[in-house]
Amino acid sequence: MTARLLIVGPQGSGKGTQGVRIAEAFGVPAVSTGDVFRANISEGTELGQQVQAIIAAGNLVPDELTSAVVRDRLAQDDAAPGFLLDGYPRNLGQVGDLDAFLEERGESLDAVIELDVPREESISRLTKRAEEQGRTDDTAEVIAHRLSIYENETAPILDVYRERGLVVAIDGIGSLDVITERILTALIARGLTPAS
Ligand code: AMP
Repeated sequence: MTARLLIVGPQGSGKGTQGVRIAEAFGVPAVSTGDVFRANISEGTELGQQVQAIIAAGNLVPDELTSAVVRDRLAQDDAAPGFLLDGYPRNLGQVGDLDAFLEERGESLDAVIELDVPREESISRLTKRAEEQGRTDDTAEVIAHRLSIYENETAPILDVYRERGLVVAIDGIGSLDVITERILTALIARGLTPAS
């Protein structure tokens, strides 16, 4: 069976880690737009050069560029049985782009996983990650900016998906394994069947 999933949550909610685990359980690729951009930056590609300063400042890469990256990735063969998108869509414009892409292909989303983590917890996790990984967009100032973009531009996409009955809200506080189990249980309850 197919599984077309989104995982949405503030920076530091653990959505990257959980996204990979859930994608693996369903046998579909986890596609993180942030990871795609970072890989392009480190390889020095044209795309990497275009987005480097935007990402370092914590701003959103233009929709046109981001949606083109996602369309190319989802058109690859390994995404035929489905996908888990992490970090996309990030605003209402991208929701429209994804809708159009899926509609062209006669496909639709199965569920949107909302990972709930309070702001203070996000900030403390991101600050810790900054110390461990030294990401250029993990400075205190940029973290605050990224969280405010999340609250103003990304959180509203959940209202759209909630109206469509797609949102599965998950408490993001707990151990990694407990949270993975919560997500899997909620998806199974919606009729989705993991591959493993
Ligand atoms: P992330 O790893 O998801 O936190 O993404 C890191 C950065 O990549 C973000 O702060 C944005 O600058 C950029 N980015 C990732 N996904 C998107 C997206 N869907 N739309 C615009 N910019 C994005």
